[in-house]
Amino acid sequence: MRLEGLREKGNASIVAPTDAPCPTAADGFAVTVTFDFHDFTRAGLLQLAAQWGFPGMHAARLWTYVYLEGTRDWRAMSELPVRFRTKAESALHFGGLTITSETHSHDGFTRKYLLALTDGRKIETVLMRFTGRVTACLSSQAGCAMGCVFCATGQMGFVRNLTAGEIIAQAMHVDRVLRGGGSSGRMRHARRERLRNIVLMGMGEPLHNYDAVLQAVDILRDSAGLAIGGRRITLSTVGVVPGIIRLADEARPVHLAVSLHGATQAERVTLVPVAKQWPLDELMAACRYYSTKLDRRIFYEWTLIAGKNDTPEQAHAVGRLLRGQPAQVNLIPLNPTAGYEGAPAGRDVARRFQQILADYGLPSTVRQRRGIDIAAGCGQLVTTRR
Ligand code: SF4
Repeated sequence: MRLEGLREKGNASIVAPTDAPCPTAADGFAVTVTFDFHDFTRAGLLQLAAQWGFPGMHAARLWTYVYLEGTRDWRAMSELPVRFRTKAESALHFGGLTITSETHSHDGFTRKYLLALTDGRKIETVLMRFTGRVTACLSSQAGCAMGCVFCATGQMGFVRNLTAGEIIAQAMHVDRVLRGGGSSGRMRHARRERLRNIVLMGMGEPLHNYDAVLQAVDILRDSAGLAIGGRRITLSTVGVVPGIIRLADEARPVHLAVSLHGATQAERVTLVPVAKQWPLDELMAACRYYSTKLDRRIFYEWTLIAGKNDTPEQAHAVGRLLRGQPAQVNLIPLNPTAGYEGAPAGRDVARRFQQILADYGLPSTVRQRRGIDIAAGCGQLVTTRR
């Protein structure tokens, strides 16, 4: 991690362009500089400790206190030498997410958290329970620039990218909830439930914030910390072609989900405006490159909108488009949003769509709907701009 990329003004962390001059007391900035602990990979934290003149083992122990034992209480970190603890406490803070509200779905399977960032912007994070697993749906941006017409986040527009630390802080919040702990201090371990599955499908386009998102993925995967395996992390993109190619070239060990929604350029562009920038043929070429290079299956997301993209003809078009590729199609009946009038396809229509895909040798699922009554489903996350 490039330490010079982090700047702090007062007590609120800012990720500044790395070529921006460092604020100094002469510029009128407060000289106390603190970094968001969650912005650091373990290697970055060891590097920081070395700059302070401390051995790496202290930084490594600090890492396990936070990510393995779940404590943010400096006084509880009794195995750290006092000098190191004092230095770390003065230089690091544990993010700035504040829980503004928490809503629970009627069926008890979903919780949605409205979280305030240090600059007052707000994001949403969702915890979903399925049979045998719990998944956190994390946001990568406040708002989104992609403008998918049926998506509440797209309808609100782009506000800003999240830092890696702000993405990790969402995961840590969910992990704390699962462990049965409060929002601060040492967590209670009564239930011993840990966060094990992550989908980057909340607010924002992850590949539009590539560096911060992949830094967060590295932190999530760290075997001495949260240790969430790459197979349990899914990154969803609406089709940012350069990002898909970069993921392939860097061989990032995460699942990739690509939102398709239309099997021809003309149909897709009516739902996904960014298809003008990266047309369907370019997107599919990038997907083939990714699958071939990494020998990995891609999940294709298809929001089923009644009378729009749920016909047998469109199912056949999807079949022809993906036939022979390592692919799985996830069918998601449209979730309602205020800014789009479409309706979800019915269960029978979804089954018919699935059957046609099966005829092309394509496995598919119909996504279990979760948290619709609290607007926590796919495409429903939204906050005001400020
Ligand atoms: S579906 Fe995803 S990429 Fe599209 S506008 Fe919504 S958050 Fe952005």
